[in-house]
Amino acid sequence: MADTAERRRDELVALFQEARACVKCDLSRSRTQVVFGAGNSDADLMFVGEAPGAEEDRQGLPFVGRSGTLLTRLLEESGISRDEVFITNVLKCRPPGNRDPTATEIEICRPWLSEQIRLIEPRVVATLGNFATRLLSSDPAGISRVHGKAQVHTLGSRTVFLYPLFHPAAALRATGTADLLREDLAALPALLTKDLPARQEGDHR
Ligand code: URA
Repeated sequence: MADTAERRRDELVALFQEARACVKCDLSRSRTQVVFGAGNSDADLMFVGEAPGAEEDRQGLPFVGRSGTLLTRLLEESGISRDEVFITNVLKCRPPGNRDPTATEIEICRPWLSEQIRLIEPRVVATLGNFATRLLSSDPAGISRVHGKAQVHTLGSRTVFLYPLFHPAAALRATGTADLLREDLAALPALLTKDLPARQEGDHR
């Protein structure tokens, strides 16, 4: 068991080395560095945000700006430490001026995320905001409709609880949204103890 976790961690490190040299799209020309993701390589809980912002691009780490500070605080309020989870984004490079990711960028970048999920083997994938939620659920429904309701999806060969959450940046803009994000995060410890259902047929993202 420990052996496979070690092997998966080594493969994740190798994936990081590969990703940091990625030039598959134009964001490689404007980025300072690739923001691969950070945290526990054997995490039960993985967070997927949208894309690095200015501070993330500078430090090479996800969610280290204002959104990250809020996320860390709300996680701690729920009894979850950042060290025990893995945090990454749909896009591994910052879009200039923090514009929205394009459909092409998302498609080009997607294999990195798929590999991260395969290697980390999370039980719960919490998607922060519309981009991550729509990508991993293949459902165009907006976050206001789907937040806080766990869905079962098979991502690659792994069946997980997909758990849509408001993006912390939206929570910074509206206290009502912050309250909803706090409530949804508070339900995570219970979700993590739930048995994973069997593989969902016809669902192989
Ligand atoms: N917003 C994101 O979606 N990701 C980050 O890493 C930071 C801000």
